[in-house]
Amino acid sequence: MEVQISDRIKNLAASQTLAMSQKSSELRAAGVDVINLSVGEPDFSTPQHIKDAAVKAIEENFTFYPPVPGYLSLRKAICGKLKSENGLDYTPEQIVVGNGAKQALCNVILATVNPGDEVVIPVPAWVSYFEMVKLAEGVGVAVPTSIEADFKITPAQLESAITPRTRMVMLCSPSNPTGSVYTRDELQALVDVLARHPQVMVLADEIYEHIIYTGEFTSLASFPEIAERTVVINGVSKAYAMTGWRIGYCAAPVAVAKAVTKLQGQYTSGASSIAQKAAEAAYDGPQECVAEMCQAFRRRRDLVVEMARQIPGLVVNEPQGAFYLFPEVSAYIGKHFGERVITDSGALAMYLLEEGHVATVDGAAFGTPGYIRLSYATSDDNLREAMRRISAALAALK
Ligand code: PMP
Ligand code: GLU
Repeated sequence: MEVQISDRIKNLAASQTLAMSQKSSELRAAGVDVINLSVGEPDFSTPQHIKDAAVKAIEENFTFYPPVPGYLSLRKAICGKLKSENGLDYTPEQIVVGNGAKQALCNVILATVNPGDEVVIPVPAWVSYFEMVKLAEGVGVAVPTSIEADFKITPAQLESAITPRTRMVMLCSPSNPTGSVYTRDELQALVDVLARHPQVMVLADEIYEHIIYTGEFTSLASFPEIAERTVVINGVSKAYAMTGWRIGYCAAPVAVAKAVTKLQGQYTSGASSIAQKAAEAAYDGPQECVAEMCQAFRRRRDLVVEMARQIPGLVVNEPQGAFYLFPEVSAYIGKHFGERVITDSGALAMYLLEEGHVATVDGAAFGTPGYIRLSYATSDDNLREAMRRISAALAALK
């Protein structure tokens, strides 16, 4: 007898970013020298003072169940960060710490979206947004953008996407996968639209806040018109090179924070006690490491954009944040390598992996076929070699 898998999970797409990364690890284990530009995570080690705090936490027996929404000391540290960096006033009861920004997002969606509710999502969008909405039985409404518009939605597009069934708008700036950053004025124009639709909550994914090259980050929660119905998502994964520690949070209206805590109480009991103490040290400790890593990402952005622009047929924007390049690759669709036909951007990503030995992610995973995503969160040498390989593999297509 076959075991049953629920329709809910059967209908869920697997994470393409994690799948490509897994495929690249398998090839590497089989002896192939693959450069992995698929998964997006800082290549830096977690700063020493943060690791030390985790060791200390173990020594001091922070080994029991933490409170479901997170240690009060960590939630206070997060409130301190939101005040000093973003000028926002939050109390600890508005903060719920979860297993990464990913769980924080999914928590909020499950806690606020009813079956049939529409959630507006600008596309390209990070792989998990639509799937999380699907888990909540909501309806993701894609608002397409283009490279010509630097992948940003306009107020008119937002206005026309909102219907009486819309309950949430999700926005990610700096964006994964495009690196686009909305300016304060651009956000204000979107907020002016949202101000006319008080039934719509705003879910602001600000996980790339500190990886930004414009010098100006604006939190959506800083607009008084929508502050009371905005939920901010953030965490330590990207800013402090702590992807494996799995700590993220939502900063939300109290009712949402309570609902998320109820969900988390039945579901995970909260995030690892040791990782929470490490995250506290990240927020309370020295911040120079954040700017240093951002500087390195900026240098790599310049390098990778310059090299990509030399490859015929690739159309690239200049990312203003995060650590991704999202080139348009349609010039290569329909081309051949021997018997192999590049039918779409997914086939191109597979070709680049198998023949060029560079792992990227198909733009279709982000709702935008015809593009691929490259993560430049790796060393300059790796980037130079990866771009050389991509250039050679593309040149070999006829
Ligand atoms: N949002 C976006 C846009 C991301 O790129 C990521 C990283 N994959 C997350 C959320 C989740 O981050 P975390 O690793 O903290 O779960
Ligand atoms: N932020 C990363 C990415 O988009 C992590 C992988 C994931 O969680 O999807 O590649």
